[in-house]
Amino acid sequence: MTSADAPTRPPLLTLTGVAKTYDGGTVALSGVDADIRRGDFVSLVGPSGCGKSTLLRIVAGLIAPSAGDVRWHTADGARPADIGFVFQDATLMPWASVLDNVHLPLKLRGVALEKAKPQLMDALARVGLADFSGAFPRELSGCMKMRVSLARALVTEPPVLLMDEPFAALDEFTREKLDDDLLELWRRQRWTVIFVTHSIYESVYLSERVLVMGARPGRVLDEVAIGAPHPRGPAFRRSHDYVDYCAAVSAALRDGVLA
Ligand code: ADP
Repeated sequence: MTSADAPTRPPLLTLTGVAKTYDGGTVALSGVDADIRRGDFVSLVGPSGCGKSTLLRIVAGLIAPSAGDVRWHTADGARPADIGFVFQDATLMPWASVLDNVHLPLKLRGVALEKAKPQLMDALARVGLADFSGAFPRELSGCMKMRVSLARALVTEPPVLLMDEPFAALDEFTREKLDDDLLELWRRQRWTVIFVTHSIYESVYLSERVLVMGARPGRVLDEVAIGAPHPRGPAFRRSHDYVDYCAAVSAALRDGVLA
């Protein structure tokens, strides 16, 4: 997959003037405009507290905006029923096996374990954990737990995956490995991914577009297109292009802070 076709992909989601004021008066977002197309990999970067998680939760439908328009370009105009959400914490059930943890979204839809098993094993295989279906969370490393969390988000094959700093708590080496795994899955599955991170480096490595947010009030200040082809790998991380893209995102963030 290359990013060259990105501008021609059909639109999936348009945010216009989205604002959020929490009870108590905190203005988390004001006047957010953004376009997401089908198959995009878009990152939201910005300083802590600029409203990245709030925006993701609005897209997920977990909270409502106070103002503005969230328009889905689906056949019926509704939010896709199936949106995968991966949080910073793996949020696994400690008393349940890996298989049972990944079963949860299907169980909630009334699909029994025996019937779901091929799908569960497939999701586990996709994240490289086929041999760990019987293990319990306490037996897994932080990286493996996060993979289980990813498998759980994938098991319903959602067309849209929302990720809120999923790898932030992991060490740099593990994070780079999971970034690579995620990119590989994205290339194969052609999901739409919206990825929240406060790491400039991670946003550049992963994304086709980086939406740069600023705080007080939270809004999208700039957009940096990352034109590097996929698959990406260590060579991209060491390239001049990579450094230049990181500098561009950094400059946009700095401009936003100074503005
Ligand atoms: P980010 O993800 O960029 O760190 P958040 O979306 O978590 O930013 O938060 C944006 C602002 O909204 C912050 O000032 C935060 O304290 C506030 N906030 C977030 N969630 C709530 C909430 N449930 N109630 C009140 N204020 C909140």
